[in-house]
Amino acid sequence: MNHHSSSKLLGVVCLLILFVVSVEAAAAERIHCVTDISHTFSFYFDGRFGTNYVAPDGIDVRNWGTLHKYDLADANLLILQSSASPCRYTPEDIEAVRSFLAEGGGVVVLGDFALFREEETYHPNTLLKPFGARFVDVAAQKPLQGEGDLEHEDIASYSPKTITLDEPDDWRILVEDARGRVVMANKAVGKGQLLVASRGLCGHNPNASDPINDQWLRPLLRRVSAGKQVDPSRRPRHQMPENLTQRDRLPVRYSDYMKPYADAIYEVYDQCFPVIEEIMGVPPSEGMLTSLILLPTGGGGFSSGANIGLAAWWGNFPEKRYGMVELITHESVHSWVHPFPEPIWNEGIATYVGILTGMKLGLETDAQSTLDGWIAGAKRYDPNMDKLDLVHGENIPHVVRMAKPMWIFEQLRKEKPDVVTRYFQTKRKLATRDRITQYTADDSIVVLSIAMQRDLFPWFRSLGITVDSKQSQLATDRAFKDVGWALPTNPNRDANRENGSGSVGSAHPTFFYE
Ligand SMILES: [Zn+2]
Repeated sequence: MNHHSSSKLLGVVCLLILFVVSVEAAAAERIHCVTDISHTFSFYFDGRFGTNYVAPDGIDVRNWGTLHKYDLADANLLILQSSASPCRYTPEDIEAVRSFLAEGGGVVVLGDFALFREEETYHPNTLLKPFGARFVDVAAQKPLQGEGDLEHEDIASYSPKTITLDEPDDWRILVEDARGRVVMANKAVGKGQLLVASRGLCGHNPNASDPINDQWLRPLLRRVSAGKQVDPSRRPRHQMPENLTQRDRLPVRYSDYMKPYADAIYEVYDQCFPVIEEIMGVPPSEGMLTSLILLPTGGGGFSSGANIGLAAWWGNFPEKRYGMVELITHESVHSWVHPFPEPIWNEGIATYVGILTGMKLGLETDAQSTLDGWIAGAKRYDPNMDKLDLVHGENIPHVVRMAKPMWIFEQLRKEKPDVVTRYFQTKRKLATRDRITQYTADDSIVVLSIAMQRDLFPWFRSLGITVDSKQSQLATDRAFKDVGWALPTNPNRDANRENGSGSVGSAHPTFFYE
């Protein structure tokens, strides 16, 4: 009995110890990762690095603002990544990275040598110089080979470049190329760990669909971040660009690195806005366009409705102006069309309005050649614009998705030069949340038909685009009343009915108004 009870007690004690140990192990492996997108805005902005390599052992937040102003207290892993970008690592940034390492943080510098325009420095090398490493403009030769801890791992990659180390003996080489050149290496700095690696070793696809190397990167990141414990209850924060300048139309947000672009980009926005409003024929939707965020990239932009993000050196800005006009307009139009994105031409019309804005701002040559280029591109796949179905077709090439709508609006513009204005004015009146929960392709052709004062369904079907007015909730008498137009009394209505047009019928009035 005694024996029995003491062994039971021992069992409880053992369990308790095990429990304590496993909790500590979990805490030690907890990762609070900050991915820096302030030097290069990349698609890591949506958290795909964390999804690929950190979750579920931890979380990932993003720093959009000036690096040294970010408070790293609740983080133990910092991911720095840069492509060809003019954004420097300032002495303050380098100091912030150094002190984070000193207190045990893990720092991962992902890069592949690339220069911004005429610059001579790949800026991550300024950051790495004190640590004795630099990215070089030499492609790695596959197959890549794991070394040390990674000796038996398969090493996948996109197009990696190589790294030169001042004192290779100070580093643990983890990945080499077929010619023995470094692709990933690690060394202790202070209580922390510095990992330098080709960006080509990590996935980058949308939806985190390519977690290449995750089987060894996950444990490696746990080891790199293990020098600093974080409190799981104290989540690190996202940091947006911290400088906010209130301008007439909206505030502009930017990091210190983007400051040189702030005035020039706002000036283009200020010039575009009234032109976009004139073309759209309505003001931006309520609550939209409340701030402009400058992004350190040449690669595009985004619209979240309220915020629009703009690539600061898009289209060779500021040397060239047209690209920025088109980009600002494109992203603004995404905000303008709320609450219902365009079902058939959300991207195409955004760029098309950008082209029209460019034309009105005296940039006809650039605007016209952009338009011609798009349409010529689409005609390679759909020579007579009567084949590819933008509504139900599968695998429609991007250029067709973009440019077939541009071609359609160009045809309509010959008939009514203000077709875009008419379309968006009609949409604003008809496509409201009290009437519909979703704006469909069929709805958009009803709206366009009303705008053009004729039934466009047969024409769209002749273009190979399968739309049906009977499927639209907007093709009702009430919709017509709300838009303030008289119901059709015009003889064409009967003519159309005789033609057997599917869009005509008592529940589906024709699209003429007087
Ligand atoms: Zn877009």
